[in-house]
Amino acid sequence: MTDTLFGKIIRREIPATIVYEDDEVLGFNDIAPQAPVHVLFVPKNEVIATLDDVQPGQAHLIGKLALAAAAYARQQGFAQDGYRIVMNCREHAGQTVFHIHLHLLAGAPLGRFGTPAG
Ligand code: AMP
Repeated sequence: MTDTLFGKIIRREIPATIVYEDDEVLGFNDIAPQAPVHVLFVPKNEVIATLDDVQPGQAHLIGKLALAAAAYARQQGFAQDGYRIVMNCREHAGQTVFHIHLHLLAGAPLGRFGTPAG
């Protein structure tokens, strides 16, 4: 597996607070949370740098990440209150770790998004 920071977390080589795991997806708390709940969901078995690099044959992975986030939200009891999922792609979105991951943000009303950085 290509080495990335998240690869090290998947292999338990560096610590993280893991909150979700199934055969294909690992979820762990973001180290710099932007909301009361901020979990990152990553594919465990494939390293893909950005959403733009996902091939058609890998499309199911995106669905797996989203459904893992939804399952976690239900399990934690905030699905009805609501949440947001985000995947940053490259520079203008502020992507910093080039191993695709889905952000799950929840736990309070969230501000709007998508405005150009000031
Ligand atoms: P992005 O900017 O979309 O690439 O998201 C990368 C996320 O990884 C950021 O929200 C960081 O706070 C988070 N992050 C960086 N290092 C760690 C780490 N060691 N454990 C958990 N989250 C991390």
